[in-house]
Amino acid sequence: MQFNKKRRLKNGYFFLIKSSFNFSLQRNLIMLKISSGFLFLLLLLNSCQAQQNSPSPLQLMGKTDTHLIGTDYQLQPEAMAALEQMTAAAAKAGINIKVVSAFRSYERQRAIWNRKYVANREVGLSPEENRKKIITYSTLPGTSRHHWGTDIDIIDGGATVEGDVLLATHFHEGGPFEKLRLWLEAHAAEYGFYCAYPNNAERTGFNYEPWHYSYAPIAKRYFEAFQNADLYEMLKDSLLEGQSDMTKIFLDDYRNTHINGVAPFLKN
Ligand SMILES: [Zn+2]
Repeated sequence: MQFNKKRRLKNGYFFLIKSSFNFSLQRNLIMLKISSGFLFLLLLLNSCQAQQNSPSPLQLMGKTDTHLIGTDYQLQPEAMAALEQMTAAAAKAGINIKVVSAFRSYERQRAIWNRKYVANREVGLSPEENRKKIITYSTLPGTSRHHWGTDIDIIDGGATVEGDVLLATHFHEGGPFEKLRLWLEAHAAEYGFYCAYPNNAERTGFNYEPWHYSYAPIAKRYFEAFQNADLYEMLKDSLLEGQSDMTKIFLDDYRNTHINGVAPFLKN
């Protein structure tokens, strides 16, 4: 009798442990389902929000940097995280991605524009010739992709180069950055980055820049905002040299050829 009681107690004890194990297993599975569902919902909300979030006029024109992070150079947090991942992957292939330029403020771009404009005017260029010459490589202040905190100019920090590092020849035919270019062409898209100004005969606007990469998930929203922007209104108080000669026709043309003259992956 005593023995049977003990045995019943023992069996009951095991049953309790077993059912409590099953219960906790089921509970964990339910929790897992709830939390993965919740995570999915969060990701969905996040991506919807990201799609809806249009940049403010100040962010679009590089007139604020409060949304950026970084000390040596500044980028939007999401672009910075993607760049860190890409840099780590490139390092495994023996490439040292070095950022030469990232966010550039409106004031900085205006100083570049005004300096070039004054120099060209002094050697006798007409306003039209002057603008045409500057926009071969430099953007009209307020419209640079470097204002967005999504775009970077990169080189291979492990290679030695004398003089100007941002020359297309360095990235080709045995040049010091050829290995970097080939790696980027094969892998940058895995991290959301695309060359903004590729060597494509059908592309208009700025010259080929194998060093200029753009973080597409955010940059596409900025690109989209420019499609509907009134450039004349945006730039009218910009204090740019040669501003009085910039007509609406010139600005619309500039949007079509230059702002829109980027890689197809960076358009919507
Ligand atoms: Zn650039």
